[in-house]
Amino acid sequence: MRKLDTDILILGSGGAGLFAALHAHRADPSLSITVAVKGLLGKCGCTRMVQGGYNVALAKEDSVERHFMDTIEGGKWLPDQELAWKLVTLAVERVRELENELGCFFDRNPDGTLHQKAFAGQTFDRTVHKGDLTGIEIMNRLAEQVWARRIDRLEEHRAVELVKTPSGDALAGVLMIDMRTGEYVFVRAKAVLLATGGGPTMYRYHTPSGDKSCDGLAMALRAGLALRDMEMVQFHPTGLLAGPHTRMTGTVLEEGLRGSGGYLLNGAKERFMPSYDPLAERATRDLVSRAMVSEMRKGAVTPNGGLYISMAHLGPEKVAQQFKGMVERCADCGFDLAGGLVEVVPTAHYMMGGVEFGLDCTTELAGLFVAGEDAGGVHGANRLGGNGVANSTVFGAVAGDTMAAWVGREGALREPDQDTLVAAVERCEPRTVNLHGSLEPLRERLYEVMWEKVGIIRDATGLRSALSELDAIGSELESSGVADANRAFNLTWHDWLNLKSLTDVSQVIAQAALAREDSRGAHFREDHPEAGALERSAYSSVRAAGERLDVSMKPVAFTRVKPGETLL
Ligand SMILES: Cc1cc2nc3c(=O)[nH]c(=O)nc-3n(C[C@H](O)[C@H](O)[C@H](O)COP(=O)(O)OP(=O)(O)OC[C@H]3O[C@@H](n4cnc5c(N)ncnc54)[C@H](O)[C@@H]3O)c2cc1C
Repeated sequence: MRKLDTDILILGSGGAGLFAALHAHRADPSLSITVAVKGLLGKCGCTRMVQGGYNVALAKEDSVERHFMDTIEGGKWLPDQELAWKLVTLAVERVRELENELGCFFDRNPDGTLHQKAFAGQTFDRTVHKGDLTGIEIMNRLAEQVWARRIDRLEEHRAVELVKTPSGDALAGVLMIDMRTGEYVFVRAKAVLLATGGGPTMYRYHTPSGDKSCDGLAMALRAGLALRDMEMVQFHPTGLLAGPHTRMTGTVLEEGLRGSGGYLLNGAKERFMPSYDPLAERATRDLVSRAMVSEMRKGAVTPNGGLYISMAHLGPEKVAQQFKGMVERCADCGFDLAGGLVEVVPTAHYMMGGVEFGLDCTTELAGLFVAGEDAGGVHGANRLGGNGVANSTVFGAVAGDTMAAWVGREGALREPDQDTLVAAVERCEPRTVNLHGSLEPLRERLYEVMWEKVGIIRDATGLRSALSELDAIGSELESSGVADANRAFNLTWHDWLNLKSLTDVSQVIAQAALAREDSRGAHFREDHPEAGALERSAYSSVRAAGERLDVSMKPVAFTRVKPGETLL
């Protein structure tokens, strides 16, 4: 096993990971900082895929209080209010940093102010953007800045285990696999940031990049940390439906399409959203996705089993100009977005849940910090479109500042517990080499059970049945093995590891969904359709206890505003 030492180890190179690296470096340039990432730095993860943009209260008529209230009400009173406040206030600082220090060019109004567009679920048009491909602008500028500094990279290195000290009271480092060679690498670090970006890729239709398989959440769970709000999986209403066996199916058509006035139609080409919600297509993602599933269950579906989005009434030329990237993407799949109809289906997009963490990105494990989509509590039951990239950049930067200070104050290189290290390597090694087997049937079963029983509309019977099915999938995975013994770039081996993480985290989602006997935001229980009393709002917290998962419901602290009140 190769061994390396670093002061700060950052897992993941999305908005959270790269902001953390830059801020930690700025705070103390003498620190050794290493970014370890499953793909290539700047080229993987979901921040690069951000289309619509970045929520921030900049306009004179807008305010951070208003952004905060939208976030709390959108999150159905489940967000941690201090985290949400930090998000909306620091987003202002961060967007200035993106522009003025990192060199991002966002779209502007004729008077030179930043253009801010409409996103669903918000009471003000506050989404800053670069056309409809905002993430590429952010990631390119961030990566350039990281490359220009003395920040080390471990690319195509997959983190597989958080390894504590023998006493278990602090993190010693992280076990990784160098995917290029298949060799194990143990990196000792004084501080480690978990920024692997969650990623609900266990659902049949999903949007996140293929490198995301909830590895960070699965590692945190094994390390004994509590995960909150895990039942809250956001489905984006407009996933492209381009038929089976193409990865384009499930990819997202951005929210701005609905925000700017696009219509959703059923298979009979009739508009249906006005009969579900007064905001129609501009309602929040949870409401629109649920209405779509209800409409699909009625049977009037498109040739591929979904629904349509229609933009033509807004003027094909205007649509083509405003949504160039989306129009091209649809054309690649044979659809005319500007003038015709495009087939869509709700698609698993984002996990509101994640590791419980503090305002300074600390966790309950000394030496471990968390930021971005791996962290839970900022969004509660629903993330507003545009609050995701704000979240990863805001808390990534906070984590960088905190880690640099923490390393200076109490950071030390610690020895790992050898038994944990040995057990972790064993966990990663497939038991058998199954020369004729394929992981596809197991993946399909996972997709099926999560989509049908732990998806947009849930009930206790389905969730219990999903839990036993997930147990079976987990056991079969353990004994399935992989088809090739070659370790270098063995994608089947990594796929097997991906499925293991996804199955573990699917169990957590299903357990939390079973424990929440009400319906809030992204979580809808057909057997408990009421939201329950807002003033007694509680969030779910799941922790591994040996083979079992313990779920508790903890009261939300209304530290800034109570249900029925407003800051406005
Ligand atoms: C298609 C799409 C469009 C979106 N559009 C918007 C939008 O318009 N506005 C908005 O606010 N949000 C949007 N989001 C959500 C937004 O992208 C995410 O909230 C945010 O970018 C997450 O940032 P992150 O840094 O936490 O994770 P990511 O940017 O996803 O980065 C995760 C990193 O972790 C790495 N990684 C994963 N596993 C491991 C491992 N085991 N070891 C090492 N590295 C690992 C990955 O390779 C990657 O580099 C969109 C998401 C998608 C998928």
